[in-house]
Formats: sequence, structure tokens, C-alpha cells
Amino acid sequence: MKKKIRLLIIVSVLGLLALSLIQGYLINNTYKLKKTAFISETRRSISRMDDLSPVLDTINDMWQDRFLNYVADFYAKQISKKQLLSSLKSYTDSINSLYIVTYQKELKKKNIEYNLKFNKIVNTIIIADSIGNNSDTIYNSKPKKGFHLLGDKFTIENGHKVSSSLWLTDHSFNREIDGELKSFVYNLQFETEDRMNIDGWKQIVLGRMTLLLAASIFIFLLVFGLLYYSIKNLITQKKIVDVKTDFVNNITHELKTPLSTLTLATKMLKVNHKDAISKNTQSIINTIERQNVRLQKLIDQVLNNSLGYQEIELRKEKVNATEYLHTIIDDFQLSLDSKSIQIDKNINVNQNIFIDKFYFTTAILNILENAVKYGKENLKIIVKANDSKDFKVSISDNGIGIPKKELKFLFDKFYRVGNKEIHNVKGLGLGLYYTNQIVRAHHGTIEVNSELTKGTTFTITIPL
Ligand code: ATP
Ligand code: MG
Repeated sequence: MKKKIRLLIIVSVLGLLALSLIQGYLINNTYKLKKTAFISETRRSISRMDDLSPVLDTINDMWQDRFLNYVADFYAKQISKKQLLSSLKSYTDSINSLYIVTYQKELKKKNIEYNLKFNKIVNTIIIADSIGNNSDTIYNSKPKKGFHLLGDKFTIENGHKVSSSLWLTDHSFNREIDGELKSFVYNLQFETEDRMNIDGWKQIVLGRMTLLLAASIFIFLLVFGLLYYSIKNLITQKKIVDVKTDFVNNITHELKTPLSTLTLATKMLKVNHKDAISKNTQSIINTIERQNVRLQKLIDQVLNNSLGYQEIELRKEKVNATEYLHTIIDDFQLSLDSKSIQIDKNINVNQNIFIDKFYFTTAILNILENAVKYGKENLKIIVKANDSKDFKVSISDNGIGIPKKELKFLFDKFYRVGNKEIHNVKGLGLGLYYTNQIVRAHHGTIEVNSELTKGTTFTITIPL
């Protein structure tokens, strides 16, 4: 039992652990899905903002015009690459605060209630001649990181990409070189990327999962609590049962000593004062003796019949089953006072059986005694035995029967069916418990079939 409880606890804890792992996995998956959904939802609502807002569009036109002129200067070899980049940067820096304010205004219009930052970074700038030859890379983000052009400042790692755009254009211009006006055409390849940064997006996503998280925690605590409560209850119950069993065993044991003294005392009284005792006193002493014997028998029954099947030590022997069963039934019939009880024998066993005669007899007698105790007038008991596959002996009576719902408790220690409404026969409720323990010690099984008011059949099966 202790082992079983420990196993139950281990299995429950492992189960709970597995459940938490699965729950954690599912929550993590939901979190990832919600995060992706939230980011793409934000991305969708701000994409093409530059094109849709006239002010932003104008700002973009402004820096793009400037930029084309700087590139022209570079193409005409009037400034260096470095100067080109720093001119672009200082121009966009000068209009950046206007850009940010306008952008935030547009966000407000879109009802984005969380704090969103946005920027545009440059990935590549490549210039080639009009037919696309002699390309010259002014800037490339591949070995480095893209550089900030417009918008809020945040690191690349802290942002999410919104979109990237490639601006391809042919630009023609005139420049006076050494007093001569020359016309040029160049081809520009300019790649930018729009990025966004959402302040506290983790909290926002988690906030959207509050209900799920709260429900998960609640269910987990509920299951944990119920499990804890059940196991605690089980252990308490087991302790109570142990204490009760110990108590019954101890008290019956303790009762034996005074009863033996009483037996001895009555015997001495009868022998030593044989002549002095009157007839009347003699009968009183006889009553004391009889009741004493009865009490001793009852105590022995409790003590012996409390044994579990693991504690029963069998001394098995080869027994001729037919002969053996006839003997017990005949002896039993003789012990009955009533002549109106009929016992039919239908015994057809050809093989010898291996049993402990002492214990097996007790088992059979317990069933026979019950048949008589819970029988009716004109009781008829049928004992059948055969050895078709295993050795089977069944004992049927036409007695008061047992309600169907009680059958599964019948072999429990101290269990008795119903109360006075069903029968008023006295007993301890140990007979069938002990019979079952004996049968189990023989590696056999016992079955019961019963119909209320019709009768009961017990069948014992023992492997040959
Ligand atoms: P004990 O045998 O310890 O003196 P008991 O007869 O009450 O007491 P069991 O032999 O274990 O205990 O039987 C348990 C209960 O099963 C009985 O109280 C009785 O209600 C019911 N029972 C057993 N055999 C029969 C039967 N043949 N017919 C009807 N009821 C039965
Ligand atoms: Mg009984």
C-alpha cells in the first residue's frame, strides 16, 4: 500500500510536470503567433505612409532633389564620395525634426495608441553611366550596417523591417568645367529600408494574452490543489485504517489472557468443589464455561481471520478432491441441528488437487456456514465440483440473496450486507474476507453470483 501511494505520487508529479511542459509549449507558441500577428498588423497600418501623406511626400521630394544634385557634383568630380555622403546626411538632419513631427501626426490619424518609432536607413548607393557601365559603389551596407537617413534613432537590432524600396533613375545635368558647359547623364541605384520600433511591444503582446495566461495558471493551480488534497486524504485514510487494524488486533490479543484465566478458574471450581456445588450452581458454571468458549472462539476468529493472503503460510499436499469434498460436506451436515437442510453433491473430479487442507476446509466451511446463516426455510445447498480445465467448486443456496450493488464489497474486511432489514444474523464480516485470502494464497479466484430472494452461488477456481 505504501509503495502504491509512493508510485501514485511519483506518477502524479510526473503527469503534472508533463502537463506544465505542454502548457508552457502551447503558451510560448501562442506568444510567438501573437507577436508575429501584432508586428505584421502594425507594419500593414504604417506601410506606404510616405506616399499617402502629402506633407511627407513633399519632404521626401526635397531631400531627393538635393541628393540628385550632390550626386551630380560627385559625377562631375567636383566633390568626393565622403563629401557626398556627409552633405546628404547634414541636409536630412536639418529636416529630420520636421519629418518626425509630421510622421507622429500621421500615426495619430491612424489611431495607433502605442508609442511607435520609425526610421529610414540607406542600404546601397551605386552610380553608373547612362548605359549602366562603370558602376561605382558610393555606399554598401553589406560589410557595414545601413546608415540612418531620416526618422527616429534606434539600433537595427531593436527594430523590425517595414519595407525596402529601390529607387532607380537616370539623371541628366549640365556643369561648367574649365569654362566649358558639359552635359552628363548618370544612372542611380538607391536602396533604402523602412524600419519601426515599438516601445514595450512585449507588454502589449502579453497584455493581449492576459486571459489565456490567467486561465492557464488558474487551471494549473486547481489541478495541483486537487491532486495534493486527494493524495493527502489518501495518506490520512491509510493511517486511520492501519491504526484501526492494529487496535483490533491488539485488543483481541489482550482479551485472550483473562479469558484463559477464566477457563482455568471455572475448571478448578468444577473439579475441586465437585461435591459442594449444588445443581443450580453447576448449571450457572456451565453457562459461564459455554459463553467463555464462545468468546474465545470469536476472538480466535478475529485474530486468525484477519490474516492477509501474503501472511498465510500454506502447507500444500496432494488431495483426492472427490473424497475430500465428500468428507467435509458430510461432517458439516452432521454438525447441523436442523434436518430440513438438504445438501446435494455433484462432484466429478478426476484429478488430484494440491491444497492446504486446513485452510481450504476453512474457506469451504465459511461459505457453507453463510449458506445456512443466510438461508431460508427449506434450504437447499448444491455443491458442484469439476476439473475441466482448473479445479472448480461452486456452492449454491436458495437463500435470501444479496443486492447486486453490494457484491463488490462482499470480500472486504468486516463488511456485512445491509442492516437488520436484510437479516438479523450475527457475524463479524470476516468469513468471506478470509475465504478470499485463502483462495488467493492458492493462486485461485473466487466469484459470486446472486439474486435477491432467489439465492447465491460462490465459485472457487484453483489452477491444477
Ligand atoms: P462471519 O462470517 O465473520 O461470522 P458474516 O457471515 O457476516 O460474519 P461474511 O461471511 O464475510 O461475514 O459475509 C459477509 C456478508 O455477506 C454477510 O453479512 C451477509 O450479509 C452476506 N452473505 C454472505 N453469504 C451470503 C449468502 N449465502 N446469502 C446471502 N447473504 C450472504
Ligand atoms: Mg460468514
